[in-house]
Amino acid sequence: MLLENKTAVVTGGSRGIGRAICLELAREGANIVTCYANGADAANETVAMCQELGVQALAVQADISVKEDVDRLFEEALKVTGTIEILVNNAGITKDGLLIRMSDDDFDQVIDTNLRGAFYCMRAASKLMMKKRYGRIVTISSIVGVIGNAGQVNYAASKAGVIGMTKSLAKELGSRNITANAVAPGSITTDMTAGLSDQVKEEMAKSIPLNRMGCPEDVANAVAFLVSDKASYITGQVLHVDGGMC
Ligand code: NAP
Repeated sequence: MLLENKTAVVTGGSRGIGRAICLELAREGANIVTCYANGADAANETVAMCQELGVQALAVQADISVKEDVDRLFEEALKVTGTIEILVNNAGITKDGLLIRMSDDDFDQVIDTNLRGAFYCMRAASKLMMKKRYGRIVTISSIVGVIGNAGQVNYAASKAGVIGMTKSLAKELGSRNITANAVAPGSITTDMTAGLSDQVKEEMAKSIPLNRMGCPEDVANAVAFLVSDKASYITGQVLHVDGGMC
């Protein structure tokens, strides 16, 4: 197993890509601490599934856009094994709309969750990892942060922002044996894309060289590699998991 005796904080593990990441890291032996905004039952299901794989697991209600919640998340996480070696910034939201009609609130909520939330978690994790002189940070961006998308200026800004943070962090923390990378998924089948009509999904699949939308496990496998010691000389990178979309 690649991650035995490691503890990972994975934000947004109640469903979708976050749950798949929790399970894949647990399969590789990592203890899992996850957080959720509202989905307590679903998050506890993730915990039970991880525990069945033989690792310790905990879910904490914490809104990552609130600094005090993130502080509490890391305090709770430290109680599990006393250390945190891995952070996966996964939690994220969309509030889509064309720029001219986008409300200030929709802009702020997306930036506060996707960008500010990742910043709070990176800062909290980095302090612990610097003391250990070891750490793996992976942040889930999106191809939308690389190529843009009509109707998603807020989301695209947040996802481009986390790429900038990741590349900067890689430079700040490399000397402490801490890597920081981003994963940029394309279209992945989760609740986030469930609202799209079948027709849109079919059109989307046609534009993907691998001819299908991705599944959460496709992203989780990439994350598991990047947080393992097999990726110890990879930092500041953006790994596209998009079936060849861009
Ligand atoms: P999802 O199914 O909507 O799940 C989102 C997760 O984030 C849930 O666990 C949710 O918790 C949690 N969350 C949302 N806001 C939160 C907050 N303020 N504090 C704490 N947790 C919060 O999304 P997904 O499709 O799995 O996406 C996961 C990540 O991948 C996101 O960053 C997303 O932007 C990115 N991504 C997704 C796609 C895609 O096609 N699906 C493509 C590219 C990138 P609750 O259950 O409590 O709400």
